[in-house]
Amino acid sequence: MELDDFGEALDALVSAGAQNFGDCASIESLHRELSRFEAFVTEATAAFEASEEWAAEGAKTAAAWIATRCHLPRAVARRRVRLGRTLRQLPCCTEAWREGQIGTEHARALASARRHRTEHSMARDEPMLVAQACELGFEDFERVLDYWKQLADPEGADDADEARRARRNVYLESSYSGLWLGQMTLDPVSGSIVSAELNRLERQLFDADCAEAAERLGRRPRIDELTRTSGQRRADALVEMATRSAAAPADGIRPAPLFSVFVGYETIKGRICELENGTVLSPSALVPWMDSAYFERAIFSLGGRVDVSVRARLFSGGTRRAIELRDRICTHPYCYEPAENCQGDHIEPYAQGGATTQENGRLLCGFHNRLRNQRGDRRERPPPSPVAAA
Ligand SMILES: [Zn+2]
Repeated sequence: MELDDFGEALDALVSAGAQNFGDCASIESLHRELSRFEAFVTEATAAFEASEEWAAEGAKTAAAWIATRCHLPRAVARRRVRLGRTLRQLPCCTEAWREGQIGTEHARALASARRHRTEHSMARDEPMLVAQACELGFEDFERVLDYWKQLADPEGADDADEARRARRNVYLESSYSGLWLGQMTLDPVSGSIVSAELNRLERQLFDADCAEAAERLGRRPRIDELTRTSGQRRADALVEMATRSAAAPADGIRPAPLFSVFVGYETIKGRICELENGTVLSPSALVPWMDSAYFERAIFSLGGRVDVSVRARLFSGGTRRAIELRDRICTHPYCYEPAENCQGDHIEPYAQGGATTQENGRLLCGFHNRLRNQRGDRRERPPPSPVAAA
């Protein structure tokens, strides 16, 4: 096989017209082939680096040669060369990527987890991690990888969390035109506290905008018929936060952040700690919050679980919380709506005698709950193990 043959095959595909490949099956296989091709190019790049052919033209590195000759940003060229080099140490990953079982981003994430301090653990755990990469969506896989890094290199994870916290910074300055310009960098815990409150206020403003537009138009408004954009609402929400803070009584009760600590995912041995949005933290990242936070412990087990009342109409209390902690997001396979925007849904409908239990409950956002009721759409992610909220 020559590269010219490949070029000809690609020409044939192009002349068939991309618009004729816009169906589900084609899009799926095009992405699979694209990712296999990227694997191929990356492996070839590693061979190119080893050949040192690039040195003949005076390039100092293979990446410099590629950046110039292939018109790539230098950072992109460097990343590809580095990935190709790391792949040599990751035979399972290379194989799976070549076969199209994992995508480029999975391979990249795996390779970046192989550091000096983790290389022994990686040699041992690579097949397990690749199996997880084949199985899981990218975000879930990233989380598994974060946990693995914590176990393989606990000090590195602690350092990384400390470094993330040290980078916190807020910049807010008035410009010459009188506008205020700002930027913020927050560590995962602080960021989720600020963002949760900002989102909560923005949702209130959104509801108010919807109500105002419905009144004005006499029907349900479209998103572009609201008087404020989402950015403007967020700005107003931030001002509202400042106003409420200034008005808060000095002896008011401080709301404390809530951390969920998960126990019992087989291999993890209790070193589990993540925020509701799925950000994995090393336990030391919680130390600064110890005095001012609530902690809840969720035990993942087959035996124990909590149900409030099997015949209650709505999921509430411990049952609702257990479902939230287990599902995290809307369980529709094409949806990532967080738990706070989801409803507890009976898998076997309540009207047909479905019980209000953890096993019969799942999170669905409003849209997918309605879709399910209209179309009887029963698609869902495979159910994870039950949780006992303690
Ligand atoms: Zn949804």
